[in-house]
Amino acid sequence: MKVTNCKDMKVLVINAGSSSIKYQLYQMPKLQVLVKGTLERVGEQSPQLKYQSNGAERVIEAKAGNHEEGMNFILQTLADKETGVIGNISEIGAVGHRVVHGGEEFTGSVIIDEKVISSIEKFADLAPLHNPPNLIGIKTAMHSLPAAAQIACFDTAFHATIPERAYLYTLPYDLYRKYGIRRYGFHGTSHRYVARRGAQLMGLQKYNCNVITTHLGNGCSITAVKDGRSVDTSMGMTPLEGLVMGTRCGDIDPAIIFHLYDKGYQAKDINKMLNKESGLLGISGQSNDVRNLAQLAHKGDKRAALAIDIFAYRIKKYIGAYTAVLGEVDALIFTGGIGENSSEIRGMICSNMQQIGFELDSDKNE
Ligand code: ADP
Repeated sequence: MKVTNCKDMKVLVINAGSSSIKYQLYQMPKLQVLVKGTLERVGEQSPQLKYQSNGAERVIEAKAGNHEEGMNFILQTLADKETGVIGNISEIGAVGHRVVHGGEEFTGSVIIDEKVISSIEKFADLAPLHNPPNLIGIKTAMHSLPAAAQIACFDTAFHATIPERAYLYTLPYDLYRKYGIRRYGFHGTSHRYVARRGAQLMGLQKYNCNVITTHLGNGCSITAVKDGRSVDTSMGMTPLEGLVMGTRCGDIDPAIIFHLYDKGYQAKDINKMLNKESGLLGISGQSNDVRNLAQLAHKGDKRAALAIDIFAYRIKKYIGAYTAVLGEVDALIFTGGIGENSSEIRGMICSNMQQIGFELDSDKNE
């Protein structure tokens, strides 16, 4: 399909995750948000849709026994007679889908056709939790909105410019050739956007600057960006590597896995532990949420304070490494729920970094 007249188009953006579907409907060309919502607990008990439109926030029970049903439920609410924002879903001219893994094949966004679908299916091998729900989102939208252009935007695409020396693991080279084992990096749409927006805010016409972008949400990653291009990033073949995250461990010695295996842990239990029971939750033993941990820490909870301390320390270490990679850094950029909102954590990360060129204005930070 060829997208021609985008001027007055309504564009739906979909992020179909493993148990949630996030979406926003934009009116072009001003990128006015008509509705923004999250369908939670897809495929679980009591799914719920929270959405904001026309200045009101609603929370309703949803029908979402699986992703397809959930997607259709969202589409229905968009054109609901009482609370909807459009008369008919056929008004939607294009749908942008977040797709987590595009392997080495996709270096930018693409209009989806059968070939693109089969590639996304192929890369489900590398992102088994993410690509399958992404695909259901795509297929349902194609079925329900046959006249709309469907576009895939890959998390990995922005990192396609990372050089070999940064993306290859020092394993036998054949594993890269046979199985595609290498660093791909994720959160690319976020890193790309904030790096370029940062350059604009610094008054640069082109992206001829070096920036370090930190995306700190439930998942966390950090990227070194040279002249608008990713040159290294902390997430690896999967989104488990790198920074400390809500429930993911980030960098650990791989020998720990074999040690646990020898102690009797099963592979699937170790996988679950590293992805769902580690990180901020693992260290604190209480929460994966920085707001809760900050409250607990202020009340004297030592493990909550330790979890935050390790979180900030790991980021600081990566900033040092990427400063060395870039040589000179024009900006350090924070985004994601934590990066945007927590002046306390930004302050911890940036403390005592004058030697390598970072000095935080504490008033502006607040
Ligand atoms: P996701 O990766 O799921 O999109 P978000 O980007 O929404 O996650 O980030 C979630 C994290 O942001 C949580 O740890 C949450 O505690 C943190 N967060 C959100 N708002 C604030 C705030 N006002 N102050 C501190 N942390 C916040």
